[in-house]
Amino acid sequence: MRKQIAAANWKMNLTYQQGSALLQTLVTTEIDLKEHQAAVFAVPFPYLEMAVDTVQHKKNYYIAAQNCSDKKSGAFTGEVSAEMLKSLNVNYCLVGHSERREYFGESNAVLAEKLNICLANGITPVFCCGEALATREQHRQNAYVEGQLKESLFHLSKEALLKVVIAYEPIWAIGTGKTASTEQAQEMHAHIRSVLKNQYGDSIAEQISILYGGSVKASNARELFASKDVDGGLVGGASLIAAEFIEIIKALK
Ligand code: PEP
Repeated sequence: MRKQIAAANWKMNLTYQQGSALLQTLVTTEIDLKEHQAAVFAVPFPYLEMAVDTVQHKKNYYIAAQNCSDKKSGAFTGEVSAEMLKSLNVNYCLVGHSERREYFGESNAVLAEKLNICLANGITPVFCCGEALATREQHRQNAYVEGQLKESLFHLSKEALLKVVIAYEPIWAIGTGKTASTEQAQEMHAHIRSVLKNQYGDSIAEQISILYGGSVKASNARELFASKDVDGGLVGGASLIAAEFIEIIKALK
C-alpha cells in the first residue's frame, strides 16, 4: 500500500512553548501507526531541533521544514539550506506551498531546484500544487496543475520521483473553511496520477503518495482520505489543535 501521511503545517503560528506543548500532547497520545502510515509536522525553523528531539522515539513520526533555499550555501542572508536541515535530522520539507508561491514569488523553475537540493540531501520533498479559484471557475484546473508538475518535477528520474510526496492544495480551499468535495479531490488526484503515469509509467505513478490539503478537519478527514487516490492530508489550521489533529491522524487509511 502507498504511504498514507497526515502532515501538519503550522505556518507562522505558535510560540516555542506552545509548539513544544502541542507536540508533547501528540507524542504522548496513544496512536498506533501502521507500517504504511506516517505523521509529519512542518514546524517553524527555530523549533526544528526541539521537534526532532520530541518525536524521535515515536514510530513513523517525522519533522518537516516549511521551506528551504534553492541554493547550496553561501551569502544568502536569512536563508536555510537543505544541508542544514539534514544536519538536524529533518526528514521532510514542504516545497512550493501556495503561500510561498504567492507571497515570495517562487516559480516552478525555482521549485525544481528546491526539489533537487532536498533529494540530494536525503530529504523527502512534499511538493505542493493547486489552482486558484479563477482557474477552477474557467475549468482550467487540470491543465494548470499539469503545468506545475511538468515544470517542477518532470526533470526527475523515476528513482528520484519515487522519493517525492505530492500535495494537491486548491488555493481556494486553504484557510478558507471551504473544502473541496470528496469528488473534486478524487478527480484531481486521479488526474495527477494519470499525468505521472504518462510520464513515468503505471508502476511508478501508483507508488506516489498524493495528499489533499485545504481546510481538512477532524470532521471531514475520514471521508476525504477514503478516496482511492487520496493518500492523507496536508493540514494547516486544524493541525494547531491537538484533538483535531489526533483524529486526522486516526483517519488515515
Ligand atoms: C495548508 O496550510 O497547507 C492548508 C491546507 O491550510 P488549511 O488546512 O488551514 O486550509
